[in-house]
Amino acid sequence: MCVYKTRASLHKRYIVLYVEYINPTKECRYLIIGEQKPLPEIISMIEHEGGTKILIVGCRSCVAVCLAGGEEEVLQLADRLREYSNSTSKGWEISTVTLQRQCEKEFDRGIAKLIENTDVILSLGCGVGAQVLGEVYPERIVLPGINTSSMGAPEGRGKWKERCVGCGDCTIQLSGGICPIARCSKMLQNGPCGGSQGGKCEVSPDRDCAWQLIYDRLRLKGRLDLLEIILPPKDWSKARDGGPRIVIKNTEAGR
Ligand code: SF4
Ligand code: SF4
Repeated sequence: MCVYKTRASLHKRYIVLYVEYINPTKECRYLIIGEQKPLPEIISMIEHEGGTKILIVGCRSCVAVCLAGGEEEVLQLADRLREYSNSTSKGWEISTVTLQRQCEKEFDRGIAKLIENTDVILSLGCGVGAQVLGEVYPERIVLPGINTSSMGAPEGRGKWKERCVGCGDCTIQLSGGICPIARCSKMLQNGPCGGSQGGKCEVSPDRDCAWQLIYDRLRLKGRLDLLEIILPPKDWSKARDGGPRIVIKNTEAGR
């Protein structure tokens, strides 16, 4: 069952509306990594779109974790846009709302009233969130405020590393639980390439060599024998080469 909770808070002079969707079984279990677009690019998109009533729609899941599109980032961006508007006499009215998950239509539908009174919708969700928001309001153009880059994990404060490219055919059981597709610069399934020096990648010397990591992990596990397995060319039809992918689950059977 979907449970909605709304709350409002006062941020400086502005009322901020939060829409939350409470469902403990649907916690975000992965992290989509993205970065906010540079302010000049965002301003240029808004000016090109035209209109004065601007709604910034944030997301409290992945992009909040990577400090790109959560509540704080939404409010900060709103302030910067207001400053720009004041200094250029644009007369922009900036509103904000932060959804629990912008990629779920239930949440997006909850802001219909706000959307009605808006000229420009600026999404601070990931590319998925921005597209779903656009599907819920197909007559409106949703501007993307975030450049979505990868799936990964936090590694220290303010740092995230790519871990998976969503190839659709995971084989990390053969590489010590470390993905060579996502973490080797050459995406070598049968590595290493031979160029690694001091454990670093020859393509990007500031990155660890994925195959050094794989070797170290397999040695730790006593499974260096796995390095002798030569994998056939990867079947990229399960990845993006096969077109947009669709996953269907038999939810009625509870699976
Ligand atoms: S093998 Fe594919 S699915 Fe598995 S971690 Fe790597 S990119 Fe992701
Ligand atoms: S040095 Fe390591 S990570 Fe870099 S391309 Fe070669 S095998 Fe891949």
